[in-house]
Amino acid sequence: MSIAEQADTVRVTLPDGSVREVARGATVRDVAEQIGPRLAKAALAAKVDGRVVDLMRPLEGDARVEILTEKNPEALEVLRHSAAHVLATAVRRVRPEAKIGFGPAIDDGFYYDFEVDRPFTPEDLETIEKEMEAVARADDPFEREAVDRAEARRVFAGDPLKLERLEELGDGETITLYRNGAFTDLCRGPHLPSTGRLKHFKLLNAAAAYWRGDESRQTLQRIYGTAFFTKEDLEQHLHRLEEARRRDHRLLGKQLDLFSIQDVVGPGLIFWHPRGAMVKWLLSRAVEDDNVASGYDLVYTPNITREELFHISGHLPLYAENQFPPMAAGAGEGEDVHYRVKPMNCPMHALIYRSNPRSYRDLPIRLSEVANVYRNERSGTLHGLLRVRGLCMDDAHIFCTPGQVEDEIFLCLDQVDRMVRQTFGFELDFEVSTRPDERLGDDAAWDHAEAVLQRALERKGIPFRVDAGGGAFYGPKIDIKFRDAIGRLWQGPTVQLDFQLPERFELEYTGTDNKPHRPVMIHRAIYGTLERFTGNLIEHFAGAFPVWLAPVQVVVIPISDDQAEAAHAYGRELREKGIRVEVDDRNETLNYRVREAELQKVPYMAVIGGREAEAGTAAVRVRGAGKKQEIVPRAELAGRILEQVRTRTLQVGFEE
Ligand SMILES: [Zn+2]
Ligand SMILES: [Zn+2]
Repeated sequence: MSIAEQADTVRVTLPDGSVREVARGATVRDVAEQIGPRLAKAALAAKVDGRVVDLMRPLEGDARVEILTEKNPEALEVLRHSAAHVLATAVRRVRPEAKIGFGPAIDDGFYYDFEVDRPFTPEDLETIEKEMEAVARADDPFEREAVDRAEARRVFAGDPLKLERLEELGDGETITLYRNGAFTDLCRGPHLPSTGRLKHFKLLNAAAAYWRGDESRQTLQRIYGTAFFTKEDLEQHLHRLEEARRRDHRLLGKQLDLFSIQDVVGPGLIFWHPRGAMVKWLLSRAVEDDNVASGYDLVYTPNITREELFHISGHLPLYAENQFPPMAAGAGEGEDVHYRVKPMNCPMHALIYRSNPRSYRDLPIRLSEVANVYRNERSGTLHGLLRVRGLCMDDAHIFCTPGQVEDEIFLCLDQVDRMVRQTFGFELDFEVSTRPDERLGDDAAWDHAEAVLQRALERKGIPFRVDAGGGAFYGPKIDIKFRDAIGRLWQGPTVQLDFQLPERFELEYTGTDNKPHRPVMIHRAIYGTLERFTGNLIEHFAGAFPVWLAPVQVVVIPISDDQAEAAHAYGRELREKGIRVEVDDRNETLNYRVREAELQKVPYMAVIGGREAEAGTAAVRVRGAGKKQEIVPRAELAGRILEQVRTRTLQVGFEE
């Protein structure tokens, strides 16, 4: 069809289904103008046939068009990527020699990579941020230009990183430049109409980063920032970042002397110091007590095993890369025998099930074990307590008949509710993951299992999302995330159905028909791992654990040496009643010692002066309540604390 024969208008279909005709070659912005001046003013970008483009993009054919404003999540990404260009513009003004790399939008903001002679200091970032404000004020339009390769090479002659990227673009690809003022980038876009649309942004930090994440390439300096459409959104985000920093479990872990990771032993392996170990022990005990009360049996299984076990279970060779390499066998065993440290407990529990003949009358059998397992995670992905190589799981496996699955799911959901939501105040978020394309088990089994999981949640009145196709190949699961005190979602408990392991281990029970049947296996953890859960708790409570979990519950402080004896006697008395107590009789001022106890986030300080020593009382201060104190008979304090421990209250202090 020749140009002369083409209609001179195109049909634009809007999201509400209405159709408009505009001149061929009209821009998306023209469409917005036609709809209304308010929309044209608010317009930032557009979606044309599902692809996000600039407002200045001409329409050469019929298309579905959606105008994007601040309200569309896609627009936020455009804003942030445009902010990255503004950042590079500013950096070039301050450091004209800076070579530019990539500058994408990311989850919470944006970054740009620069090759520079010296790293950026915090002062540099301030200067650059000021310069960005000037770039935004100038309100230069972002202009897109399609060029040929020769032209692009000319433009980026002084930018080797851009040239490298350019050479990767295929011959069929359109090469586009984006200009704003004096700055030009090799970029696919899209961008805001102009730099002036960037109003609320903040540079956060600079860090070294390898070019393209490749350790063999040069080190670049990456500047991170964030941008929002409103001042409120920006401030809220910065506040959250500040809170997250204040709550960082790695810093608090050091400050409160909870744990360490030591080079000589290796990354991702946790040393639980006395105070951290106390928290871990209390958590383990709490979940073990709940398990026993819920009808679980406790078991213990070996930490290493002949690797044959993982060939039976199917974890080898499939998951070999997540396991530590094999070890030679013990003396007297064949040379071809190898051992592995266990990365999970499931096959071990299957062996306990298989060790006896089982009848339907024995089911369900619930085996639980708080056990250490080891996974060979890449050292680069390790992060404090949240991502480790040595994991202590509060693991359990339930073996039951298909007809018992629903009741068992109820049991798991109740435990999660009790141990996670009620005990710690986490809000829970549920998701059911259903059958993936490649899977084990017939469709009837999947139909049944998926229906059971969803029905269990429905009957509990729990809202949930469905992740269609997100299940493991061996069964569907319920994933539970929890939301912490500052609104972050953490990966939490999982309830996983498994059709595979009972097959592979040939697990059986004798049914009412006197014939052998396969049991269903349910994997479930409440905390997940003690490491990650403790890390989450440290951040959730900002280190200020509830009374029942606080490693030290009371510090007894004698005002002077004259009361030291009384203080120690009181300390012994509390300890005998099961309260974790320290006596701080150091030769320091009262204020200093109270402040120390506050810094250590101890819930109660029992101050004993001359009067208190005589009267058998203590002046009790409460964590976070300042100088306020209550005179409490010594015998009474223990009772109050023990009651708070029994109920696992989140409250500190004794006011109603
Ligand atoms: Zn760009
Ligand atoms: Zn398991």
